[in-house]
Amino acid sequence: MSAVWHPFTQHGLGEPIPMVTGAEGAYLHLADGGRVIDAISSWWVITHGHRHPRIMAAIAEQAGRLDQIIFAGWTHEPAEALARGLLEIMPPALTRVFFSDSGSTSVEVALKMALGFWANRGEPRDRILVMEHSYHGDTIGAMSVGARGVFNRAYAPLLFDVGTVPYPAPGKEQDTLDALEAACRAHPAAFIVEPLVLGAGGMLFYPPHVLAEMRRICAAHGVLFIADEVMTGWGRTGTLLACEQAEVVPDILCLSKGLTGGAVPLAVTLAIEPVYAAHYGTDRSRTFFHSSSYTANPIACAAACANLELWRDEPVRERIALLAERQAAHVAALAKLPGVSGARALGTIAALEIDAREGGYLSELGPRLLAFFRDQGLLIRPLGNTVYVMPPYCTGAAELDHIHAAIAEAAGLR
Ligand SMILES: *Cc1c(COP(=O)(O)O)cnc(C)c1O
Repeated sequence: MSAVWHPFTQHGLGEPIPMVTGAEGAYLHLADGGRVIDAISSWWVITHGHRHPRIMAAIAEQAGRLDQIIFAGWTHEPAEALARGLLEIMPPALTRVFFSDSGSTSVEVALKMALGFWANRGEPRDRILVMEHSYHGDTIGAMSVGARGVFNRAYAPLLFDVGTVPYPAPGKEQDTLDALEAACRAHPAAFIVEPLVLGAGGMLFYPPHVLAEMRRICAAHGVLFIADEVMTGWGRTGTLLACEQAEVVPDILCLSKGLTGGAVPLAVTLAIEPVYAAHYGTDRSRTFFHSSSYTANPIACAAACANLELWRDEPVRERIALLAERQAAHVAALAKLPGVSGARALGTIAALEIDAREGGYLSELGPRLLAFFRDQGLLIRPLGNTVYVMPPYCTGAAELDHIHAAIAEAAGLR
């Protein structure tokens, strides 16, 4: 019997927990000799493919030099190089790079930066605006700015109150903008949003013009605009950042998941100069008080530097464009099937709903689909009856055909 307590796993159901022994490209290798296509990039982190040689080499090389060092008051070349490299490809207004180690912590850092900004300017503000159905992580602060539901009901008393604007569903975009405009008049500290795609909320898309308009409203009211690109960053939506498609530059930007190509944990929170300047001075009480033991771990930073090199030297954008084209074609075909609704694609992401008798994450269809896909040699983990595909960019046409054929078959299962 295993002593391991797995995340988001109800052990009492006795569902199988496969043992993974290796991985390469788009494939996972199992202890039983089987091979599985990683159609969700190991929960949205793997971008180029598993064990990309350049990232593996960077990790090995860095492990031979410097493993870990306190980052408060000390520095190292992998972190310096990564910060420089990030500024080269991120919007120029973002001038400061703060390291942490997961998407959730990058969000905590963003929220603390926003409140620190206002506090240090002598006009304290603490209200955060969020979008309905959003997800920003599982720590207490990140949960507070995310959707409330079965996932966090037990912890609700610990979560702080936020202002929520409705999700801009098709035809309802103006309601979102009006609600944001009204909420901004009450001088909140910041608005945090997942640009173009609400991931864990069900792969819900909304158009770039809404993102651009939301950004404009925040700017007009002096409300800090936080873009959580932890999932959407690093090419998932077709561009390096989803914000690019709306020509939006946030005040604070959260990146993680694909930052190291998905190989090792690392996150950054980028900020515009005024956010940094509000914490800058000779007064120690204005310091940005945040750290974790592994802040800017050198090995993780080296992996992220290799990721930046890949974006610079390899045809990553072309691979993404090709994958996006194929995903769109598959989605167009799936949309015609009975039992399928809401078929949609954005960049490398494809999603649809398999019409179930009852919806929601806990509907019985979810586990049945999970088991079905596992039997088909696929790692696909539906969000309730929402089935989505978010493969690594190295995924070939044959693998994608297999994935979408299985989804078509699954639509017949309900
Ligand atoms: C996954 C995710 C997070 C949390 O990242 P972790 O590394 O799992 O803590 C935050 N925001 C978004 C949009 C995410 O998709």
